[in-house]
Amino acid sequence: MIEEKHVNVLKTIVGEDFVTTSKPIRVSYIAKSIMDIDSETADVIIRPESVEEIQEILKYANEHKIPVTPQSKGLSGGTATPTIPGGILLDLSRMDKIIEVDLDSRYMVVEPGVTNGQIWGYFREHYPEWVPPIPDGAPSEGSVVGNTLDRGFSVVTSKYGPQADLCLGLEVVLPTGEVLKTGSWALPGAKPFYRWGIGPDMTGLFLGAQGTMGVITKLATQIVPHMPYIDLELLGFETAQELQDISLDILKQEIGVMVQGGPWWLVPGVRQREELEKQGLLDIDAWRQKKYYVPNYMMNFEIWAKTEPELQEQKQTIKEIVEEWRNKGAKAEILPIHPKAKATRLKKPNKIAIPYASYERTSKKGGGFLFITWYLPWKDTAEFCQICEDEMPKYGFDPIYWVASIKNGRDCIGMPIVCYSAQDPESVKAVNEFDKATSEIFLDRGWLNYRPRKLVHAPMMYERAPDYYNMLVKFKKLLDPNGIMHPGSLNMNFLEGYP
Ligand SMILES: Cc1cc2nc3c(=O)[nH]c(=O)nc-3n(C[C@H](O)[C@H](O)[C@H](O)COP(=O)(O)OP(=O)(O)OC[C@H]3O[C@@H](n4cnc5c(N)ncnc54)[C@H](O)[C@@H]3O)c2cc1C
Repeated sequence: MIEEKHVNVLKTIVGEDFVTTSKPIRVSYIAKSIMDIDSETADVIIRPESVEEIQEILKYANEHKIPVTPQSKGLSGGTATPTIPGGILLDLSRMDKIIEVDLDSRYMVVEPGVTNGQIWGYFREHYPEWVPPIPDGAPSEGSVVGNTLDRGFSVVTSKYGPQADLCLGLEVVLPTGEVLKTGSWALPGAKPFYRWGIGPDMTGLFLGAQGTMGVITKLATQIVPHMPYIDLELLGFETAQELQDISLDILKQEIGVMVQGGPWWLVPGVRQREELEKQGLLDIDAWRQKKYYVPNYMMNFEIWAKTEPELQEQKQTIKEIVEEWRNKGAKAEILPIHPKAKATRLKKPNKIAIPYASYERTSKKGGGFLFITWYLPWKDTAEFCQICEDEMPKYGFDPIYWVASIKNGRDCIGMPIVCYSAQDPESVKAVNEFDKATSEIFLDRGWLNYRPRKLVHAPMMYERAPDYYNMLVKFKKLLDPNGIMHPGSLNMNFLEGYP
């Protein structure tokens, strides 16, 4: 437990009201991480308001070797904060200013506490023709900064690439108290318009770093046009191979801002399992024979256009490609969508992911779900589907998983959605065993976990890439000589006393 004398000094930096060691409050920070099974409890929560306060906190923590875990909104869904018990949890949610929107160079600058809901609402009110890259299915209370640092995927990832690709520059406070700006921002007076900056770009060291390298206090990221004509095309497929190949043909036409789907299991996955069992609806045939018809696999193509004819043209292209494949014997079809389902899907930020938490929930079990997310080449999507279908049932999970296109189908985000009982140790054990076993299979194929868990993906990935890991540790030691930043995360465990 952190000594009281340290807490008192920290209070002098940010003010008494913004430092707490209250147990219920500290524990409530864990409860916020809906999908997180590795989080521990910090000793003290600090809520700074400025860069200067963060500099002071980090200098003090560095001097006294106190671990610091930065958190923007704590809804990462897979990245534990903190990964080890104790230390300071730096809650950055008070830093919630939208600092700049530049419609000519098309970027925005935001602080870590700016939420998805806040920035989306701000753009709808002030800049309705533009879109800030909020994550696709994440809660409204999550942050764009956290999502970018996590290298997540946004509402426009299928067209413009994942969040990290849109990042133009960062302002970072290092554990030494120094402030670093990356990209063109590094040049005093320059705007953050150019990611690659004035020399070798350092931005990437902080993306995917899970708070192990420094505290990000500002993010400059691209904004993209919000088209007035929007629609959703739902495609059904007989096989995962059809899903992969037919979607790729459409994606090569650069159609769709968000293109995502998966097996029929996604549909019952958002309902209460108990209820489905009672009604006999956990059987695919029951679904197919009744009015609940669903095809084996589905993809949603969210399409945006400047004009109605442009929208129709894109829909026509999809139709023609599906017809071509049908002529070759494929069972693909364009399906009607219920207006309510369409409205739910098109709403931003949407709440699509949340109901998975009720899937396993009964009076006896606590509902829990974990999105375990992988990046792979799109041409491996069918293989990914098959592995999920083979492996998930072995560990007692229904094969609920999700796939989405990145940059017009160059890559795929593949995600087993593990619905488990958070209050049942056996269920948690099964999650870990499943995760480890599938990580071996996925890593063997050269696929990457993008939000590595401390006990599973991080050690497994780095073990396979020792040269890369050793170089990363050298960079880490340069930026964070005492290893105070989020020890335990990303396998960087070298703060004495913190395994
Ligand atoms: C129901 C649900 C649905 C989701 N759907 C999506 C989705 O569709 N797309 C998607 O990409 N993600 C999704 N996520 C994941 C998650 O919401 C995002 O990655 C999220 O935006 C992270 O933001 P945050 O502020 O909550 O991050 P946090 O949890 O605060 O932090 C994430 C990581 O970054 C580090 N970090 C945070 N802020 C800083 C900082 N300022 N400086 C240094 N390090 C920092 C933390 O230490 C942590 O390791 C979902 C999560 C949930 C719970």
